[in-house]
Amino acid sequence: MIDSISEHFSTRLLQWYGQHGRKTLPWKMDSDPYRIWVSEIMLQQTQVATVIPYYARFMQRFPTVQAVASAPQDDVLGLWAGLGYYARGRNLHKAACVIVDQHGGVFPTCIEDVAALPGIGPSTAGAILSLAFDQRHAILDGNVKRVLARVFSIEGYTGSSQNMKLLWQRAEQLTPQQQAGDYTQAIMDLGAMVCVRSRPLCPVCPVQTMCRANREATTNLYPMPKPKKRRPFRSRFFILAQDETQRIALVKRPSHGIWGGLWCVPEFEDRKELEHWCNTLGFVVSSTGRQLQPFVHKFSHYDLQINPLLVSVENVSMGRIAETDELHFYTYRQLREIGLPAPISKLLESLELVHEEQTQ
Ligand code: SF4
Repeated sequence: MIDSISEHFSTRLLQWYGQHGRKTLPWKMDSDPYRIWVSEIMLQQTQVATVIPYYARFMQRFPTVQAVASAPQDDVLGLWAGLGYYARGRNLHKAACVIVDQHGGVFPTCIEDVAALPGIGPSTAGAILSLAFDQRHAILDGNVKRVLARVFSIEGYTGSSQNMKLLWQRAEQLTPQQQAGDYTQAIMDLGAMVCVRSRPLCPVCPVQTMCRANREATTNLYPMPKPKKRRPFRSRFFILAQDETQRIALVKRPSHGIWGGLWCVPEFEDRKELEHWCNTLGFVVSSTGRQLQPFVHKFSHYDLQINPLLVSVENVSMGRIAETDELHFYTYRQLREIGLPAPISKLLESLELVHEEQTQ
């Protein structure tokens, strides 16, 4: 399929570019690799409209690569302020120094040399050389990935190493032998103007008839997003230890970790650990534990299944269990006044309602 597509793909795209491409952007006025490089770096993760005034100010202050290299890094970053992603500015300054020191101030024309400069990956290197010198290099920026993922309906996350390999192959195969610079600009423009992220303008797309996602009406499925990692899940027993006077045991949690420093019902990995805790403190568990309805509490980074276990303990009100700074028994009324973790507070409230019903 790729051979039949590649024959027509670039032809149609170049025809479309001739009529509709963005040819008046400030960095398209000449083919100076320095100016193209700066624009390509600024355009990473930033919209064209935002870049234009920054680019103009930058070129006024730093008209040549030598001007960047001889300026303090802070001056470069000063003109970057507001564009974000400041590593781009720092790398641009470093790369300018490399060009001056190692390439005599002349922007390199060999793809390996360009890709070795700080802050320039293979796609940006290909873009600079094809736009500045009409060299034939494929590019694979975010826009191009989206176009190709749709044209070839590439299943799975586009950033996976397997798909990146496939996308690079497709990008290479589609890049024409002639007019490589125009083609690079054309496919960038197609991604930015027609094959946009949501609601691509397929009816006016020059490669519509070659696009599998369009044919199958599945453009909304591509490019496929990064699969979400499964959230970690933990399950714990939370013991509601109730003494003879219906008071509930709370322990102070350690200052680090979740609910650090808050009072909470004791938490255990399993029943064995729970029994050990009761034995150590001298609690006599007077009836078998009653498992209450478990529920899941969502933290930002994991889900916690709370398995509440209601047990009656003796020897507390008789004064045979010493309460400490870390262990206290509270009445339901007192519980309302303590800062408890939200899910525990909810759990105790529901228990209080049952308790009230039983005592009425
Ligand atoms: S037909 Fe639609 S989905 Fe396919 S490349 Fe063109 S704009 Fe993108």
